Amino acid sequence: AKLLHADPKVVFYDEKIRNDAIRIKTIENMMYDALANREFVVYLQPKYNVSTSTIEGAEALVRWVRDGKVIPPSEFISIFERNGFIVNMDMYVLEEVCRLQRKWLDMGLNPVPISINQSKSLVYSKDYVDKLYGVITRYDLPARLIEVELLETIIHDNVTELISIIRQLRRIGLLICIDDFGSGYSSLNMLKDFDVDVLKIDREFLNNAEISERAKYVLAQIITLAKGLKMIVVTEGVETEKQAGLLKELECDTAQGFFYARPMPCEQFEKLLSVPGGTRTFESSREDQLN
Ligand code: C2E
Ligand code: MG
Ligand code: MG
Ligand code: MG
Repeated sequence: AKLLHADPKVVFYDEKIRNDAIRIKTIENMMYDALANREFVVYLQPKYNVSTSTIEGAEALVRWVRDGKVIPPSEFISIFERNGFIVNMDMYVLEEVCRLQRKWLDMGLNPVPISINQSKSLVYSKDYVDKLYGVITRYDLPARLIEVELLETIIHDNVTELISIIRQLRRIGLLICIDDFGSGYSSLNMLKDFDVDVLKIDREFLNNAEISERAKYVLAQIITLAKGLKMIVVTEGVETEKQAGLLKELECDTAQGFFYARPMPCEQFEKLLSVPGGTRTFESSREDQLN
């Protein structure tokens, strides 16, 4: 302890660790009540068809809304992953998305698939597929309206187990997406071993493609490869018109990013669904976001 105080740097780290521990403890004390009080709110970010610029789907992204403040997932997801609460959170998000899809079907709208991010601990939890299936059937939804996003980091030693889980999910009829594709070390193995519907390319590829011909070539080849495997290709993190143009040039099917629309409260997304088909374009979502 004497040494600690003799070196200001060490004291700094010691303080930081203490603060982190307090922050984590505070979040852990609040999380169950927050779930019960519906403080976790599903935002939706539309995905657009690159050539027609119409809405093709959306991704559910959770926010913690507390005292009017919107807290992003980066503040709490990793804590929930470490303490296991992420399983409750992910099941809640699924429930919310199913509830919304049911509501929109009942309203006579024409809903689009909504993807949900699935944590590793949920995917390998007992009866995972049955749990998903149970919720979807309870809302009497066509399974195609729900898509699961899996990160490459979901692979662990037991590849056969994951292959079997993915097969069961597909049998139910859910769409399956590999998220942040290319950011991990087993990207090509995932493509080789898993029969999935959607490939979502990590946004770093798009960022790099703007500044390097080499990176652009890699992005183009990933798109070609995925299309050859009959997958739908989504590029995420599209922030500029120039990037959107590049995706058109590379014939990427679908795009998601701040250029088109930011993640939005579901009431706002509902308004987008309510416009007759042809005008569900990103222009209309951007207008909406100015209101
Ligand atoms: P992700 O699944 O890769 O989601 C995409 C992230 O990129 C989102 O961040 C989204 O808001 C952000 N984004 C979208 N367009 C753009 C853009 O044009 N530029 C930039 N810079 N970013 C963009 P968000 O909402 O903060 O979520 C971060 C991560 O948290 C997600 O990454 C996902 O891994 C995780 N997450 C979010 N919701 C859930 C959930 O319900 N369950 C689980 N397990 N994880 C979740
Ligand atoms: Mg995702
Ligand atoms: Mg992603
Ligand atoms: Mg990500």
